[in-house]
Amino acid sequence: MVKVKLLRYTPDGVRLVAQGCRVSGIPEGLSDEEIVRMVVENDYTSAIEHIYFTFDISEMSVAISRELLEHRIASHTARSTRYNVEKDFGYVIPPTIDGDEELVEMFKEAMESARQHYAKIFEKMLEKGYSKAEALEASRYVLPMATHTHYIWTINARSLINFLGLRLCKRAAPEIRELAQKIYDIVVEIYPEIFKDIGCRGYNLGLCPENEARPKDCPFRAKIPTKKEIKDSWKKKDK
Ligand SMILES: Cc1cc2nc3c(=O)[nH]c(=O)nc-3n(C[C@H](O)[C@H](O)[C@H](O)COP(=O)(O)OP(=O)(O)OC[C@H]3O[C@@H](n4cnc5c(N)ncnc54)[C@H](O)[C@@H]3O)c2cc1C
Repeated sequence: MVKVKLLRYTPDGVRLVAQGCRVSGIPEGLSDEEIVRMVVENDYTSAIEHIYFTFDISEMSVAISRELLEHRIASHTARSTRYNVEKDFGYVIPPTIDGDEELVEMFKEAMESARQHYAKIFEKMLEKGYSKAEALEASRYVLPMATHTHYIWTINARSLINFLGLRLCKRAAPEIRELAQKIYDIVVEIYPEIFKDIGCRGYNLGLCPENEARPKDCPFRAKIPTKKEIKDSWKKKDK
């Protein structure tokens, strides 16, 4: 199960953002909190880019780290499989099969086999006179996508809203949704003015861009229309 620890964040961020907005020009008489809420609600969110968070994310699968890396407006530092011996790698049991004893057993056998092959190739290369760096470089290619990796991840509040919007969605892979939820639980405690009313993209926008891809078990199906439904309704009115 992915682990998340907050390492650092921009302190006093509400005041900082409000200070920026006042330079820009804002109606007088609004409190710092009101300014920040207005900025988030109206999506003038370049102002909240001044707030940063740095997380320590561990016991995450390589599979999901690839998805995390797709979020380019963030800074990523990852555990290297070139410089670390991964003979005793930990791994994620995919949440989808967790609880199904038969499948979990099969999955563990596959991981054990990968572990043995990794160690065998590594040792054989050393025996044959390859350097440790060469042995690490080559044997890592047999590591499974489930292998645990470890990231230090820094992201600003605006980009984090984008991340949460995409990854709290029911369509996102279960492991990254779990990561997104854990991050959300941390940041909403620190800056409720920014994150209290943040959820998946559909919730944030009041319409769901997933259209037909929206899964049947989406909790907002009955409440939030799809983008296509809204556009189709305009077209019908225009006729
Ligand atoms: C359910 C789901 C399914 C997905 N399936 C796939 C898939 O099948 N294949 C796949 O490759 N990815 C897939 N993704 C990843 C997705 O396409 C995005 O790459 C990922 O979510 C990062 O989002 P982002 O680009 O908004 O974030 P960031 O990279 O953090 O970018 C933030 C924002 O900055 C702007 N931006 C960033 N870079 C550029 C740029 N180069 N040019 C213009 N604007 C930019 C955009 O407005 C962007 O929204 C999936 C994501 C989800 C949630």
